Amino acid sequence: MSKDIISSDQQNLILSRLKSQGITDTSVLDIMSTMPRHLFIEPALKNRAYDDDALPIGFSQTISSPYIVAKMTQLLMEEDNMGKVLEIGTGCGYQSAILAKLFTHVTTIERIKPLQQKTENLLKKLEYKNIKFVYGDGFDGYYANAPYDAIIMTASPSDIPEKLVSQLTSNGRMVLPLNMNGKQKLFRVKNTKNGVFKKEVDDVLFVPMLEGVI
Ligand code: SAH
Repeated sequence: MSKDIISSDQQNLILSRLKSQGITDTSVLDIMSTMPRHLFIEPALKNRAYDDDALPIGFSQTISSPYIVAKMTQLLMEEDNMGKVLEIGTGCGYQSAILAKLFTHVTTIERIKPLQQKTENLLKKLEYKNIKFVYGDGFDGYYANAPYDAIIMTASPSDIPEKLVSQLTSNGRMVLPLNMNGKQKLFRVKNTKNGVFKKEVDDVLFVPMLEGVI
């Protein structure tokens, strides 16, 4: 296998697995099955890159399983509304890279400086041109690029952050793993002219959203 691409066997494996798990959006299936996940994880774990598992990425953080990334991405899709997206929790950049193929522009925020810099360097090397990398506290969002058509949180807060909702467009959507008394539930939140509506989707397990930067 060439270093930067994913083999057709692996593509087929991912495709059939995601389909059997209920992922139906063809753009999401296309991107997920061609994204070389092995480039985003530590060399020692590369033989597990295409398993359906969350994996450590250093700094006590994890990359989510391909299924969870696909599921959250599918929940973000609105065919005619794929302009600006904000990601909270850049981590290793796998989700950011997928978003960059689907949205016109991605802003991604990470609070751990060495991780933020390592990922920014990797994605620049991979020639992603439509991603703005921000070192900061995701609870603040990033007003300079707001409003966003979509926001995705890849770390779990205990409440839906009001500051983030306020950075959505008037019909924007947000996908997040909400911690409810120790149990995490995936929610899709939708801004509408009649108010903000939230829908519970699934049980999930993410690292906690932590305040401040390190
Ligand atoms: N999307 C990532 C998932 C990484 S895990 C990926 O594909 O790899 C979640 C990330 O959220 C961690 O890197 C963690 O440091 C970050 N995080 C947690 N709290 C945060 C906050 N307040 N602001 C920004 N990032 C945060």
